[in-house]
Amino acid sequence: MTIPKVFLDILIEYAKDSREVCGFLSGKNDRVFSLFVITNMAKSRDRFRMAEEEVVSALHLMESEGEDLLAIWHSHPGGRAEPSLVDIREHSFPEAIAIIVSGSSIAGFSLKNEKILEIDLDWGGIDCE
Ligand SMILES: [Zn+2]
Repeated sequence: MTIPKVFLDILIEYAKDSREVCGFLSGKNDRVFSLFVITNMAKSRDRFRMAEEEVVSALHLMESEGEDLLAIWHSHPGGRAEPSLVDIREHSFPEAIAIIVSGSSIAGFSLKNEKILEIDLDWGGIDCE
């Protein structure tokens, strides 16, 4: 998956929060064009629950832009950049990958059918306007 380099800096900046932060990446054909930040209703250090209204409006916006949901990202404050058991069990968009940010580490995983498969993230994507 190709992602604009500027998004890497943004995700690492958000992940400095002591609680989990989360959002979406959308685009077309494995190329990410848009980044969404969604409120974590769980306000927890080890759990996230996306604000439903924001999820709905983000998905609408993607659709109107002709983009697909490509990834769900969230942070692991003090944890590792790998999916937890909860992440695997509660991954709600099987076609999207999970991107996990911990400090300056960031990694992507397919969690389809509760199987973990690491996905290559290429941060050389064009910068969005
Ligand atoms: Zn997690």
